[in-house]
Amino acid sequence: MGYAAIVRCNCYRDGLTTEPPHKEYVQVDEEGVYINLDELGLTKTTRLAWYLEFDSWQMKACIHPDMHYAYEHLQNISGMANFRSTLAKLNAPRRFQALNQYLPVANSGALPIEHAATALQEINALSMEYIMAFESTKLVQVGIRHAYILDALRRVLTASLETNNPVIWI
Ligand SMILES: [Zn+2]
Repeated sequence: MGYAAIVRCNCYRDGLTTEPPHKEYVQVDEEGVYINLDELGLTKTTRLAWYLEFDSWQMKACIHPDMHYAYEHLQNISGMANFRSTLAKLNAPRRFQALNQYLPVANSGALPIEHAATALQEINALSMEYIMAFESTKLVQVGIRHAYILDALRRVLTASLETNNPVIWI
C-alpha cells in the first residue's frame, strides 16, 4: 500500500493511437479515455467482454503503457505521513497552499491543472527549506530528507504541465 500518481497522455485526442474496439462508444474527458456502454442493453457477458477488450487495447494503444504519460510511486503510508509532518512544521497551510490542499489523502482525487505550476514552485521552494531531523538535533534540508517524494512530485507536475492534464492520485 502507498501512494502513486499518474498523468494521462493525449495520444487518443491527437490521433496517435491504434484504432480502439467499439470506437463509437469511446469517449474522452479530463480524466482520460473510456468506453461508455451504459444504456446499450448489452448482456452482462458481452458488456464484460467489451470492457476487457477496451482495457487490453488501452494497455498498448500508444507509446505510453496504459496511456500513462507519467506514472510515479510517491511514498508508502508512513513516508507520506512523515512528509505531511514536515509540511505542517513549515506552516504549509499558509506557505505551501497548493501542496497542503491537493496532496493525496486517499488513493483518489487529483491535483487540478490550474494549480500544477504553483505546486511545482512550492516543491522547489520547499526543497530549499531546513527542518530539525527528528532523530537528532541537526538541521536537514527538506530536499534531501524527502528527496524521493519531491522528485516524484516534480516529475508528475512537469508531466501535467507538458500535457495540460491533471495529476491523478491512485
Ligand atoms: Zn500516449
